[in-house]
Amino acid sequence: MNPPAPAVATTVAGSLPKPSWLARPQVLWAPWQLAGEQLAEGKRDAVRAALKMQEAAGIDIVSDGEQSRMHFVHGFLQSIEGVDFARMKRIGIRADRYEADCPTVTGPVRRPRPVHAGEVRFARANTDRKLKFTLPGPMTMVDTLADEHYRDRAALGLALAELLNAEALELAALGVDVIQFDEPAFNVYMGEVREWGIAALERAAAGLKCATAVHICYGYGIKANVDWKKTLGGAWRQYEATFPLLAKSTIRQVSLECANSHVPMALIGLLAGKDVLVGAIDVATDAIETPEQVAATLRQALQYVKPQHLYGCTNCGMAPMARPVAEAKLRALAAGAAIVRAELEAGQHKG
Ligand code: ZN
Repeated sequence: MNPPAPAVATTVAGSLPKPSWLARPQVLWAPWQLAGEQLAEGKRDAVRAALKMQEAAGIDIVSDGEQSRMHFVHGFLQSIEGVDFARMKRIGIRADRYEADCPTVTGPVRRPRPVHAGEVRFARANTDRKLKFTLPGPMTMVDTLADEHYRDRAALGLALAELLNAEALELAALGVDVIQFDEPAFNVYMGEVREWGIAALERAAAGLKCATAVHICYGYGIKANVDWKKTLGGAWRQYEATFPLLAKSTIRQVSLECANSHVPMALIGLLAGKDVLVGAIDVATDAIETPEQVAATLRQALQYVKPQHLYGCTNCGMAPMARPVAEAKLRALAAGAAIVRAELEAGQHKG
């Protein structure tokens, strides 16, 4: 079994910027700059660089930075039968917050072979740190597809959860320490979360012996999301509906957005018993947090979460950011967590 986690360990939500020689920088769904064997080699080199960047910054639980997939949802779906990428359809996603070209579900979904096993083997062989691997959550996948077959979001979600579970069990067996499902859709369709979202998430995570996590955020720092956040008012209480459900679920860790957001910190008190990955780095601004700012966010969280259950994290993936900015932010994250750890060791936080 894993030893107990250190107090206020650090990790990332998932993605990191790709090198400009691999994919066009600072855009989502960035086209690859390489092809064939050069692309395969380029992805591996980028994973090595991403791992080293996190290690050098001082991040405790690292990820492959999602360097091998074009997008966090479509990367998995590209290998799934029943999903036709030749039939892309422009649809409104996240309750019509923005439009995206999405592949069409044309038949029963099936995973004919492992999707990410090669990537995980490579990442595992290239770092001694604890390794997180991210997969899209069932509801977020459903919301990023044009469905012409199931015509029932819950049915499609549960079908995708079965495939995710088979994949996740294989990845855990390859030495992944944390499997995280990304569910930004949980902040949009709170009724569906209750009706079928949690059940689908638990199905995807069933039987996993490694740590399981769910990441729920307000989206990448793209304009549509920044504009949406402006409509949410002074106190963002979306988490209030989902956290009590997650507290009762089998999922061990919850990754959420805090830095520069209007999420009342007290809401993480609803996650009793869970590991809480507090977003202490804003991915929607290039302004680099100071370690002291990171420490301030983490200190606030310590009012509601015990140190061994608190992780310093980024608000969301850093894929669309400039690489040097992401690197500096990771260093600030680790330095800020170190400040709080030192305070804990000196007995300055009495819980
Ligand atoms: Zn996110």
